[in-house]
Amino acid sequence: MGEKLSDIDALLISHEHHDHIVGASVISRRYEIPLYLNAGTLEALKKGNFRSGNTVLIEGGNPFRIGDIEVIPFSVPHDAADPLGFNLVCGHIKLGIAIDLGSSSHLVRERLRGCDLLVLEANHDIEMLKNGPYPWEVKQRVLSRVGHLSNEDAAALLKQIVEPRSQYLFLAHMSKVNNLPQLALYHSQKALREANNPLARVFLTYQDKPSEIIKMRV
Ligand SMILES: [Zn+2]
Ligand SMILES: [Zn+2]
Repeated sequence: MGEKLSDIDALLISHEHHDHIVGASVISRRYEIPLYLNAGTLEALKKGNFRSGNTVLIEGGNPFRIGDIEVIPFSVPHDAADPLGFNLVCGHIKLGIAIDLGSSSHLVRERLRGCDLLVLEANHDIEMLKNGPYPWEVKQRVLSRVGHLSNEDAAALLKQIVEPRSQYLFLAHMSKVNNLPQLALYHSQKALREANNPLARVFLTYQDKPSEIIKMRV
């Protein structure tokens, strides 16, 4: 992204699954960046060989500040110890981030409604997952209410949460095996049109390179 690691003020840890924490502890120690995570996630990490003295305990529903940014963590349905999504609020700008969630809940919809920018999981296409190479028990896990949001799930959720101010959508946590970018884009763009928000811009995110960078005036 062109930012120096030494300029990073904090790492927000959503949950303990490997794809979200690998590298976090090394980066935290080497660059003295605090890891913000809840007690359930920390306990789960300690069962592995996680090492970081630089942790700040947070709790779903309890807002805290990092510099100018107010962070509001909230619980999401996912099969981890105590997984979180986040709102980031700065001035009149509100961001909603929810990746790794198997379904939406009343709380998730409340926290994501009317955000200026959303980072939302669009993990798989249901038919590609069902017909794809994953073992049956993994397919069942991904499809469950504590697994991952499909393109269709994300689209249905979008229709409930976008408001006229919701102008940017980043589709995240996309499977390379069970999804195609054009399918994820198709479903979410259709949902935005149906929610009367046809001008909202939709971006993909990537496992191996940064996404588009958006500058917003606060
Ligand atoms: Zn996960
Ligand atoms: Zn994940």
